[in-house]
Amino acid sequence: MYDSIQVSQLKQQALSFVSGKEKAVQEMVDMIFSFGELGFQEVETSKYLTEVLKKNGFTIERGVSGIPTAWMAKWGTGSPVIALGSDIDCIPKASQKPGVAFKEPIVEGAPGHGEGHNSGHAVIIYAALAAKEIMQKNHLPGTLVVWPGVAEELLGSKAWYIRDGYFKNVDACIFTHVGTGFQCNYGDPGMNGLVSVQFSFDGDAAHAAGAPWRGKSALDAVELMDIGWNFKREHLKPTQRSHYVITDGGDQPNVVPSKASVWYYFRERTYEDIKTTYEAGIKIAEGASLMTDTKVNHKILGTAWPGHFNKPLAEVMNQNINRVGMPDWSEADQQLAVAVQKLVEAPKKDAQGKEINGLKKSIDTIKGSVPFSWGGGSDDIADISWNVPTIVLWYPANVPGTKGHHWADAIAMATPIAHKGSMAGAKATALTLIDMLTKPQILKEAKDYFVNVQTKEIKYQPFITPNDPPAIHLNKETMDKYRELMRKYYYDPGKYKSYLEQLGITYPTLEKKAKIAP
Ligand SMILES: [Zn+2]
Repeated sequence: MYDSIQVSQLKQQALSFVSGKEKAVQEMVDMIFSFGELGFQEVETSKYLTEVLKKNGFTIERGVSGIPTAWMAKWGTGSPVIALGSDIDCIPKASQKPGVAFKEPIVEGAPGHGEGHNSGHAVIIYAALAAKEIMQKNHLPGTLVVWPGVAEELLGSKAWYIRDGYFKNVDACIFTHVGTGFQCNYGDPGMNGLVSVQFSFDGDAAHAAGAPWRGKSALDAVELMDIGWNFKREHLKPTQRSHYVITDGGDQPNVVPSKASVWYYFRERTYEDIKTTYEAGIKIAEGASLMTDTKVNHKILGTAWPGHFNKPLAEVMNQNINRVGMPDWSEADQQLAVAVQKLVEAPKKDAQGKEINGLKKSIDTIKGSVPFSWGGGSDDIADISWNVPTIVLWYPANVPGTKGHHWADAIAMATPIAHKGSMAGAKATALTLIDMLTKPQILKEAKDYFVNVQTKEIKYQPFITPNDPPAIHLNKETMDKYRELMRKYYYDPGKYKSYLEQLGITYPTLEKKAKIAP
């Protein structure tokens, strides 16, 4: 057992370990930013991260859940088993130069880190390495498991990890996500859960002018399904969010489309309401198929539960957040942030009514379950949170007031803003790991909250069956198209101090220089 003086010494050592990794954190953040890989195609990112972990003594299991870019990296022995996760995928068409306050893609049309998932692994890996060093020196038992959120934007991996038993023996999970504030909340944060479903219609082709009466249009079915759904919206609860894209609308106008597909996200606040919404979608698809004499089938491409996070663990993390404090933003960081806010026409106030003006200077206070929520986004970390005591650390590495899932959200993500925010996140995570490893009471309380509060009445039920495969085909064509074009912009830390330096960007560049006419 450790007394409080010993624990505080170990925590001091963990802090100095992370402080010494500033350069490594910057390199990892910049490197993954430069890879810019979409969900299920995180080939370079996974190769790079597993190499770093292997070099540091972790054992890597690859191809987890049948997902080629998923892995589990383990170090240590015995209990407690603490998992550390963060997402790694990016956003379509979000390629953007960092540090400039205007639109300038690195590769036109290519994907990019317009959410900031390039920063999370630096946070957990350097925290894990700090814990590892202290565990070794002090013969502390325990197992650290570092894992990636593959295809988070598609809600595509975490329910599969749970289904396939990868979190069975895990005592607690620390998840980290890029944010604009520094916080760790507990309970129900008001997110929606969802199912992501593709509906595929099968009709019959015909000459669209010569014999249209002999064709059965699968595209008609898609359009009728969308119309049906848009009428249905009036009779859904205001907490739902649903949206779709037509992924296949046929080939050319003079051929009646024999095949067409539409991809829906059905979001709601509870398992039951997600299920009801999903079943309504299936009925409408069947109606569209009847109207057009086509056949329809559907398959799940992704899923997430509404989240619920662990109170005792969040309280420990929150104390450590307060100890670390907000990053020390420079004048240049603030100038870039204000310019980005102007660029995206950021609202004057956030959802809590606080002023949006540059980067945040103070820590957010810890919050419990929201009394009510109109719904919103989703994250499949929720599926893990209903199976293992889990917290999400939001670390301050991006600019407040942006739209999300947008190229402008990539601007700060390979600049000192992201580097400093990731360092702060790594410190708070390392301190929390030391608390968890030296004070068994914390994990006991976490388990007690999980069993007797969180899952007392609500039990996890997966949306996927034992047979649903992960949708690993997604994004393959897009990455095949852009990967080689992007490769020449991969960060080379041997040659350049930072990715900004490699791209020749003066930090910050607030305005685009007008091209001078010859
Ligand atoms: Zn995310």
